[in-house]
Amino acid sequence: MNDDPQAFWDESVYGLSQVDKQAWLLNQLNLLSAHHRCHCHAYQTLCSAAGVGETAARYDEILPLAVRLFKHLKLASIEDDEVFKTLTSSGTGGAKSHIVLDRNTAAMQSKALVKIMQSWMGRARLPMLLVEQPSLVANRQGFSARGAGALGLSFLGRDHCYALDDSMQPNWPAIEAFAERYRDQPVLIFGFTFMLWQCLLEPLAERGISLPLSHALIFHSGGWKKLTHLAVSHADFNQRCREHLGSAQVHNFYGMAEQTGSIFVSCEHGHLHAPRYADVIIRHRQTMQPMAIGEMGLIQVFSALAHSYPGHSIVTEDLGIWLGDDDCLCGRKGRYFQVLGREQNTEVRGCSDTFN
Ligand SMILES: [Zn+2]
Repeated sequence: MNDDPQAFWDESVYGLSQVDKQAWLLNQLNLLSAHHRCHCHAYQTLCSAAGVGETAARYDEILPLAVRLFKHLKLASIEDDEVFKTLTSSGTGGAKSHIVLDRNTAAMQSKALVKIMQSWMGRARLPMLLVEQPSLVANRQGFSARGAGALGLSFLGRDHCYALDDSMQPNWPAIEAFAERYRDQPVLIFGFTFMLWQCLLEPLAERGISLPLSHALIFHSGGWKKLTHLAVSHADFNQRCREHLGSAQVHNFYGMAEQTGSIFVSCEHGHLHAPRYADVIIRHRQTMQPMAIGEMGLIQVFSALAHSYPGHSIVTEDLGIWLGDDDCLCGRKGRYFQVLGREQNTEVRGCSDTFN
């Protein structure tokens, strides 16, 4: 589907100016819209009902699908016998969304995830501590978005150590052995934000111990809602990481289970950066009009990686602010933004069950 498959992967993840990147991505998204109109009857029906044109001249002209539609409609652009795996993103008691992947889409999403993460952590596979239970990843049945997220990232590390036991308690012997073994070496630590806080940072603080690590690269994702209830700020979180997990570099990332692979990672200034394969705009919460830099609204995410299902343009239930294009102090090009939390009065999903 891509006009030049090689060029798709060759360019650096954050190297294009917003103008150049947008021109390229818009073309990819228009190709995807045409593809899904042809192969997904429900998508075609939605486009017709909304009266959207064949080709969008701007991001905001592409039909935005509400993320909850994936819970209520079967949205697939492939035949049943082409389904390679189905990701589920479960809510708290609500319906689950089902994302169907064919082999090609799954491969593209993994490849993009690796490209994005390597631009932050280098190409070497580092020893990896996962703040997860071993059974989450071992259990491939009912592949959850959370399991898929952890598994997708686990490929980036080596000598995996699971920090939790099956009752979600810290596995101290495993954690201590890992920290001792990789004492002065760079290591990777991954966890969902709330689990990293509740299941590792808090227990470490309670015991008054700091792991003897000196170069930890920490990646965490997930809603801040539960941490906000505990009055934990980003600054508190990062500070606690540095205190207990070595001179840590902490990165948050944001992404939808419905767009696995195209994730937005925060830089040293705390800004989430759009990679080559994805972008965002902010829309007004009521009118859905596109918003300007600095204004708060609903986050709409675009991904060039949604081939087997029409998930290339999704309005989330998250609020955010578009902070700027090309001029973050970290030097990365393209758009950067901030996530503020979840819109009230929308379905609330369980924190650890989501990959966003
Ligand atoms: Zn930055």
